[in-house]
Amino acid sequence: SPHLYLVPTPIGNLEDITLRALNVLKSVDVILAEDTRTTGKLLKHFEIKKPLESYHIFNEHKTVERLISRLDFGVVMALVSDAGTPGISDPGFLLVREVRDRGLTVSCLPGPTAFVPALVNSGLPLDRFVFEGFLPHKKGRKTRIEALVEEPRTMIFYESPHRLMKTLVQFSEVFGADRVACVSRELTKLYEENVRGTLTELIDYYETHPIKGEIVLTVSGKK
Ligand code: SAM
Repeated sequence: SPHLYLVPTPIGNLEDITLRALNVLKSVDVILAEDTRTTGKLLKHFEIKKPLESYHIFNEHKTVERLISRLDFGVVMALVSDAGTPGISDPGFLLVREVRDRGLTVSCLPGPTAFVPALVNSGLPLDRFVFEGFLPHKKGRKTRIEALVEEPRTMIFYESPHRLMKTLVQFSEVFGADRVACVSRELTKLYEENVRGTLTELIDYYETHPIKGEIVLTVSGKK
């Protein structure tokens, strides 16, 4: 078996956990969690009792060294994030790189992640796409957006509700008001919503509708 598993967890609907995710979580020695309280609740729901340790981005560099020596010693671990796939806009990359560099093995289970259903729901071309994750909040934000002006592939962004309007306005300035995009909100949850339209239409829509919850924004590439 691998030394380290990356285990995706639901992005809303608890039924999206896979049977294998549950089995792996039951089988490992230790579960590393971005937030032990959040993961604690999930484990309790599925009646899994395992030692939980915190693994978050601000102690990532320090933590990795210590973890490697335990993995090397034979302790099998699973890394989970608060929601979705670890390493996707979440901690994980540093640990994976280091574990592999030391000749130890990593296995990421397939499972929930927000960008795949958002992309498919958008109705935008799926044959080629780019994942941009979160845009920088201030410094480098405009440069990042402008670098995508000529991008022909469908683009995927993670966005917070209080920044959505600002992003839609900036996108319409850079990509043009007629560029088609889709806002996917609260995926897999009770109030899931996928609103598709030109950037102008989306700005108009969200001027009169509440922007709450978690959001993935997909934008058509340049035609
Ligand atoms: N690791 C996660 C994944 O695999 O998708 C992403 C973690 S990132 C810190 C959180 C962001 O993912 C949110 O701000 C939002 O952009 C997106 N997200 C997570 N759950 C979502 C959901 N149920 N609906 C829409 N977007 C979601």
